[in-house]
Amino acid sequence: PLLPTGALSVEMHNLTFGYTPEEPVLHSLNIKLPAGRILGVLGRTGSGKTTLARLLLRLYEIQHGELLLAGIPIQQTRLHDLRQHIGMVTQDVQLFHASVRANLTYFQDDISDEQIIEVLKTLGLSNWYHSLPSGLDTILGSEGEGLSAGEAQLLALTRVFLRDPGLIIMDEASSRLDPATEQLLEQAINTLLAERTGIVIAHRLATIQRADDILIIEDGHILEYGPRQQL
Ligand code: ATP
Repeated sequence: PLLPTGALSVEMHNLTFGYTPEEPVLHSLNIKLPAGRILGVLGRTGSGKTTLARLLLRLYEIQHGELLLAGIPIQQTRLHDLRQHIGMVTQDVQLFHASVRANLTYFQDDISDEQIIEVLKTLGLSNWYHSLPSGLDTILGSEGEGLSAGEAQLLALTRVFLRDPGLIIMDEASSRLDPATEQLLEQAINTLLAERTGIVIAHRLATIQRADDILIIEDGHILEYGPRQQL
C-alpha cells in the first residue's frame, strides 16, 4: 500500500534490532506517536538513536516486532514511496558542486523558482538569498564553501521543506551557533515541524521544549518515555 499524504503516525511494537543477530542494540521498543506529534529522543552516544532513524528509513530490515507508519507495516511500504514521505535532516549537510537550485531540489525540475524563493523566505533565508551573486544559479562548492554552518543547516531544512514529507527525522547539529543564527534555525525548525510528525534526536534545549513526547534511551532500552509535561 502507498502511504497517505499529510502527517504520518509512527508505532513500534516490541521492536528489537541488532546489526548482528547475537547482539541487539534496540530492545523491545514500544512507542506510539500519533500523526502531528513531536518526539524528542535523548540518549548517550551508542544508545541506539541513529539506529532508530535508520530503521525508519528502512536502511535495515527489522528482525523482531513491528514498525508501522500510518498503520502500515514498514516492510510493506515501497522504498521509493517511503523515502518520499520521510524527510531526513542530519548533522552534516551534504552539498554538491552545483547551483543553489539543484542543491535544494536535487535536480527535480517540477519545483519552480518561485516556490524555492517562497520557502527560503518562509524559513528566514531571504537575506541570504539576496546576497547570492547569481541568485539560484549561484554555484555552491561540494564542501559548502561560502556557507556558514548555520546557513548549511538552513539549506538542509529548505531542501526537506520543498519535498513536503509527512514525517521529519532530525539528527540535530550539536555545534554552537551565534545567537542570531540560532534563533533563525529555531524558527525554521518550528515552521518545518508544524503540522508534521517529528522525531528529533535532541541536542538543544529548545528542541526538548518543543517536543510533545520525550524518549530517553539507554543501551537500546527505554529509560523514560511519555508526554514531556509528565516527565
Ligand atoms: P551517537 O549519539 O554517537 O550517534 P547513537 O545513540 O546514535 O550514538 P547508534 O549509532 O544507534 O547510537 O549505535 C547503537 C549501537 O550500535 C552502538 O553500540 C554501535 O556501536 C552499534 N552500531 C552502530 N552502527 C553499527 C553498524 N553499522 N554495524 C554494527 N554496529 C553498529
